[in-house]
Amino acid sequence: MATDDVNAQVAEHLRYFGEMGAAGVSGDRAWRRRSAAPVTESELSLPSGTTDGPPTPSDESLEAIRADLGDCTRCKLHQLGRSRIVFGVGNPAADLMFIGEAPGRDEDEQGVPFVGRAGQLLTKIIEAIGLTREQVYIANVIKCRPPENRNPEPDEVETCEPFLFRQVQIVKPKVIVALGTFAAKTLLRSTDPISRLRGRLYRYGDATLVATFHPAYLLRSPDKKRDVWEDMKKVRAILAGERPDGTA
Ligand code: URA
Repeated sequence: MATDDVNAQVAEHLRYFGEMGAAGVSGDRAWRRRSAAPVTESELSLPSGTTDGPPTPSDESLEAIRADLGDCTRCKLHQLGRSRIVFGVGNPAADLMFIGEAPGRDEDEQGVPFVGRAGQLLTKIIEAIGLTREQVYIANVIKCRPPENRNPEPDEVETCEPFLFRQVQIVKPKVIVALGTFAAKTLLRSTDPISRLRGRLYRYGDATLVATFHPAYLLRSPDKKRDVWEDMKKVRAILAGERPDGTA
């Protein structure tokens, strides 16, 4: 790659970190590895309804779950303008899993989650902690686009969420990031808005769950990028086996 291209990419990354609220950079290796202690159970709250669930059948796989979905007609969304089922994408053995709400227009056209404007921002968020989309797994609570991007309805969630739970059981991520109110409420079985749910860590089966703002919300409220950057620093620390608060 030409030096100018590299410089332009570095500049773009630094601009993005700045937008995310990073105060600066440090070349000090110790800064990256400032603590080694893992998150302890006592630091995590355990919301009800988020236990490991029934054992996974031995022949279960992402392919088997996708095949089980088939050309799904289980809820009304299949008759309401859906083009494609948007199952999930990424590394089937990822340590980090992102869970959004439901496909939008771009995702419905392409059959891939988070490929529109919000998806491009999610890609930047993933890259900001040194990962790529290919290294993580990305899925939604709902696999079909609700008309006019309306909120998913309770019967749609109830029908579709078992497929997400099965995906989580197969991927077995160390960290789950719930993107936005809808994913956070569904996963945590809570009625609280994301503004109340974010800022804490939750135990979700064997994973740690971090609830943060949805990238589509960040496009409307860029001042919230700083909060998301704080959340993503915790994610990065947990993945590295460090305490998420940066203390020793
Ligand atoms: N918003 C979501 O919640 N999911 C997508 O896949 C795209 C936008």
